Amino acid sequence: MCGVIGLQTRREVGTDLVEGLLALQHRGQDSAGVLTSDGTFHLKKGNGTVAYVFNARNLERLTGNAGIGQVRYPTIGPGSVEDAQPFHVNHPFGIAMVHNGNVTNYADLRRELMCKDFRQLTSLSDVEPILNVFAEELDQANLKRCGPASVFRAVSGVFRRVHGAYSVVALIHKRGMLAFRDPLGIRPLVFAQAGREFAFASESVAFDLLGFRRFSDVKAGEAVFVDCRGGVHREQVRPGTPRHCIFEHVYFARPDSVIDGIGVYEARLRLGERLATEVARLGLTPDVIVPVPDTARAAASSLASTLGIELREGLIKNRYIARTFIMHGQERRAMSVRRKLNPVRSQIEGKDVLLVDDSIVRGTTSREIVQMVREAGARKVSLAITAPPLRFPCVYGIDMMTRGEFVAKDRTVEQIRRVVSADALVYQTYQGLSEAVAGPRPSPLAPRSFCTACFNGKYPTGVTQRYFAQMERERRRWLK
Ligand code: SF4
Repeated sequence: MCGVIGLQTRREVGTDLVEGLLALQHRGQDSAGVLTSDGTFHLKKGNGTVAYVFNARNLERLTGNAGIGQVRYPTIGPGSVEDAQPFHVNHPFGIAMVHNGNVTNYADLRRELMCKDFRQLTSLSDVEPILNVFAEELDQANLKRCGPASVFRAVSGVFRRVHGAYSVVALIHKRGMLAFRDPLGIRPLVFAQAGREFAFASESVAFDLLGFRRFSDVKAGEAVFVDCRGGVHREQVRPGTPRHCIFEHVYFARPDSVIDGIGVYEARLRLGERLATEVARLGLTPDVIVPVPDTARAAASSLASTLGIELREGLIKNRYIARTFIMHGQERRAMSVRRKLNPVRSQIEGKDVLLVDDSIVRGTTSREIVQMVREAGARKVSLAITAPPLRFPCVYGIDMMTRGEFVAKDRTVEQIRRVVSADALVYQTYQGLSEAVAGPRPSPLAPRSFCTACFNGKYPTGVTQRYFAQMERERRRWLK
């Protein structure tokens, strides 16, 4: 999971790009980078959070009225500084690029590109193959003009050769800014315009801060090119079949974002309403409902009001600890749970507590939280999950690659309950998830417009067993 941003305006964009990345910080904390152009490319990137990488001195060097940026969480490789984005190539024109996603034919592309003696890849980042394929395709298009038609032809070449999930923002030197989304639109990408100023971002929340009020989604298979004079060219390069990541609405995205026409906060409210049906079906009558902060809070509040049960902030989060889900290594994750969360004893002691969380991945975090609430004096601790059991790895840019890591793999709900040591466990149904996220009709999206592969194993791009084996080998290697 990563966050990308691009700005082409009439003023200096360096500071605004960093501000935008701060709004997207939840999408990755391993590295941050910005490249601006004032006729020359200026680049600053490094490992760490946005606040760690950027300071007044290096911001001064990021001059120009166009630029791109990225915050990264690695899905391939060790997350070294060489893999931090943006990347750029000098030929043709000078192209810089950032992306969010995961290229599933990365190894084949890398081999193919490295065989050509004029292409050298210097990292393990999968944006490098996309960038080099795009550069090759643009090189073969009409070099003199490099107008929208040439750019879209090059994007078509990328769609033909690069498989997987990728939302891309690129800067073409003295030509303009380009953004495109793979033909399934798996990862989000939004476009905003205010007069002659333009912005792209992974989530609309980045625009709020920068003053852009009107925005639209870059569609699945669509490319948007903003030329240097401010002309906007949109092309449906490949007929799109939307399969947007449903987990963005459950967990990843900020609740104040709107993705693919759906408000994330509203989607989470609906998830809570649907979950209430399952809680009632199980006959649970807790004294108090407690959200596991932060992502489950909206769903917990609608679940509580639907059931007429009190909602209490019985767990307080230390906001200075990184998300446990996207920290490497089992031990670090388990240890960080207690650093991150602390119970409010007065709201828990002697009560029958229903905790609400968005997912159970490995079970370690849930077990720690249940245990912590018991130690704070709860009489009973049950767990309600706003999504169905996660059983399959994501190959589209989310770090949960190894099949054996899922507690729900080959386990029934009752067996999972025992692993997390809860008194009761209730999951959202698959239908409840799809319908709640899509929203009431007429909805901008049909329930089938989502990727739900991590719940049901139906990968919209198709994935070979060879790829799974390769990903798992690499993951084990880097996590050693
Ligand atoms: S597999 Fe799951 S997390 Fe990955 S893109 Fe699909 S829905 Fe999202």
